[in-house]
Amino acid sequence: MSQQRTTAEWRALDAAHHVHPFSDAHSLNRQGARVMTRADGIYLWDSDGNKIIDGMAGLWCVNIGYGRHDMTAAASRQMDELPFYNTFFKTTHPAVVELSALLAKVAPEGFNHVFYTNSGSESVDTMIRMVRRYWDVAGKPSKKTLIGRWNGYHGSTMGGASLGGMDYMHAQGGLPIPDMAHIEQPWWYKFGKDMSRDEFGLLAAGWLEDRILEIGPDNVAAFVGEPIQGAGGVIIPPDTYWPEIERICRKYDVLLVADEVICGFGRTGEWFGQQRFGFRPDIFTAAKGLTSGYLPMGAVFLNEKVAEGLAAGGDFNHGFTYSGHPVAAAVARANILALRDEGIIDRVRHDTGPYMQERWRQVFGQFDHVDDVRGVGLIQAFTLVKDKATRTLFPNWGETGLICRDIFFRNNLIMRACADHMVASPPLVMTRAQIDEMLGVAER
Ligand code: PLP
Repeated sequence: MSQQRTTAEWRALDAAHHVHPFSDAHSLNRQGARVMTRADGIYLWDSDGNKIIDGMAGLWCVNIGYGRHDMTAAASRQMDELPFYNTFFKTTHPAVVELSALLAKVAPEGFNHVFYTNSGSESVDTMIRMVRRYWDVAGKPSKKTLIGRWNGYHGSTMGGASLGGMDYMHAQGGLPIPDMAHIEQPWWYKFGKDMSRDEFGLLAAGWLEDRILEIGPDNVAAFVGEPIQGAGGVIIPPDTYWPEIERICRKYDVLLVADEVICGFGRTGEWFGQQRFGFRPDIFTAAKGLTSGYLPMGAVFLNEKVAEGLAAGGDFNHGFTYSGHPVAAAVARANILALRDEGIIDRVRHDTGPYMQERWRQVFGQFDHVDDVRGVGLIQAFTLVKDKATRTLFPNWGETGLICRDIFFRNNLIMRACADHMVASPPLVMTRAQIDEMLGVAER
């Protein structure tokens, strides 16, 4: 931005004209938003010149870090060549073809088909329609219900927010839409106090079987879950959980869907979270790390069974003007080449991920009111608790987290409070020295 204003001027204009997502407009405008003006690597700068460590990679998305000129060059080249054309009516373009072929290479084996959207929410809504259409075409139209999990987050559209399990979202705007059901999250710390993690994983997966039997297998279309629940508080399931979920889905002929919007593209040290947890979905959704947030783009990946099943039905009446947008596709391709050819995901898996987990436990394990210090790859969390010995949470669930988040923010470190879970999900290019720098600020 070449136009310069003072922080106060920006704040006043923002308060006057800009409606923020997930915000209480009155309190935000009283306080004034922090104005971010530039970024490089893992750092942001605000309009007062403060240098801030971005422990959240934007919103869990800037996986390759800020300031990459290969990304801007890819966007600029594509804008000159073909800034837009749609992919609706028997047309395609090289940018989307090249991206699709590359994605088929980096995706888990068997995922050779990709549908494009502009966001995670649109990917989830697209998936909901695909799942129901799949069963219609298969001659089982009663299979309509999708089962998600409490505290799961699947976006803000009508379908995504209904499938998600955020009750404060269900309370607004006439949600949930029909034929959505939920089971409890696989949160061992809260629900598995008297058992091992592995035992609890099987118990929590069993809740899916109970729910399927309650609704009737002939009415259940799919189970949908994030490999690790992100916005629900970085809830990392026991290793026994996902394989058992997969077994149950197969037993009752229910499609298994992974929402990889956060876990996808390297967050867990594997390309996709399903690879970390050893399960094979039929469909998975993605966004965020697909372009590292440089431009909006989402995707829905289909295995052969679903792709063929949908194709057998002829027209699928669904799509967005910007599905497969050429500039977003060129940027996504540059991003994926960087993740692959610079060994960024391998580094998270073998070096910076394990280092972060070790240091994270050292730093946060020492406090009386911090427990369940956890992480995988470069996604981690701890929970603020009233009493560690009895695993008792604070009664005003969520208040302490906000206080903690604000203290970090004032000290130029961005971490997020998901209720009383404090979470971090930094750019995957973060070095060991930068991990020490981030944790040094947090510890102080
Ligand atoms: N699914 C998951 C797992 C997410 O974490 C999010 C966003 O955080 C979404 C879907 C929605 O993505 P978007 O905000 O791009 O619509």
